[in-house]
Amino acid sequence: MITILGSTGSIGVSTLDVAAHLGLPVYAVTAHAKVEQLAAQAIAARARVAVVADPARHADLARLLAGTGIRAEAGAQALEAVASAPEVTAVITAIVGAAGLPATVAAVKAGKRVCIANKEPLVMAGDLIMGLARTHGATILPVDSEHSAIFQCLEGHREDEVAQLVITSSGGPFRTVMDLSAVTRDQALRHPTWSMGPKITIDSATLMNKSLEIIEARWLFGIEASRIRVLVHPQSVVHSMVTYRDGSVLAQLGRPDMRVPIQYSLTWPRHVPGPVAAPDFAALGSLTFEEPDRRRFPSLDMAYHAVEVGGVAPAVMNAANEMAVAAYLAGRGQFLDIFRTVEKALTAVPRLAAASLDDVLAADADTRARLAGI
Ligand code: NAD
Ligand code: MG
Repeated sequence: MITILGSTGSIGVSTLDVAAHLGLPVYAVTAHAKVEQLAAQAIAARARVAVVADPARHADLARLLAGTGIRAEAGAQALEAVASAPEVTAVITAIVGAAGLPATVAAVKAGKRVCIANKEPLVMAGDLIMGLARTHGATILPVDSEHSAIFQCLEGHREDEVAQLVITSSGGPFRTVMDLSAVTRDQALRHPTWSMGPKITIDSATLMNKSLEIIEARWLFGIEASRIRVLVHPQSVVHSMVTYRDGSVLAQLGRPDMRVPIQYSLTWPRHVPGPVAAPDFAALGSLTFEEPDRRRFPSLDMAYHAVEVGGVAPAVMNAANEMAVAAYLAGRGQFLDIFRTVEKALTAVPRLAAASLDDVLAADADTRARLAGI
């Protein structure tokens, strides 16, 4: 049985669709506050438990599920419980942001197959999470399309054969916009190729999503950041590539539909029939590639800097970005303020050789407290 953390979001809804196609039984679905949607999902998927993270919505959820036999639960402890319950074999992490960290860690410590869409915890504490996975026998499988692609291109090979990981990026809505000081929120929210939740859509416009993905890849695949590069590919068909030492390049291709990598994380190591067809290459005609513009998108270099500083720097970068994006989505500030906020937070980070999970959580909380007024 599977648990879907963040089932009411973009990835969560796609996961429920995949689970229905595969006939996978659902143990639990969870949401932050949207209890009506959550209850409807729980009933449709015949889940055993539904969890609302906001305890203030518990009574509403319980009322909506009365008489269905589905347990209504609430709060952070309940999220961790459904991520680690003995009945559960796979957990899909689709909560957005650092909020997903405790439940991700709970699933890892319970030795589950952990299908990770929620990349922010890996950015904050990737080395710790991968270490916990080894200790507790958890299998970490990437859902992020780029990382699913790289994971597939690495299968059957050894790390010392690899020259580079090449993460592709659509370039976002502002790939060809030279002056980013004048862009609007509506433009930033209109992604050219992917349909996603609001936070990652803004991250895709700033290319901060690629920055998070560089750090995510660094920990998932144990490859130093200097061997991970970003390549802009506007059609979003080549999901990422691995360059080998003999000059051979492996890539994974598919339609820009998250149900493909979600499904593979659930059916690995097998590719089985699912709801999405392969791309029609003759109809696509051409696939193009270009270097990212590191001057207009300083977010990319911030990721390499954060990895180089190490310790809590990636967690600070992530927290500052979450605060900056939340402010921007709430109508405060300009697009370029997001870069300024993250850059300023990063310059204040002390160099720490290693960080514990408590250090990471403290740095996250401290960065949020400092930026509370933005
Ligand atoms: P979304 O905003 O559409 O959904 C987020 C989900 O998390 C919702 O179910 C929401 O109720 C829940 N949630 C939000 N805040 C919470 C909190 N504080 N506590 C508990 N639950 C909370 O987001 P999304 O686009 O589905 O993205 C989810 C994650 O997957 C993100 O980390 C994102 O970076 C990653 N991801 C998304 C895509 C995509 O195509 N959408 C692709 C790759 C990776
Ligand atoms: Mg991605």
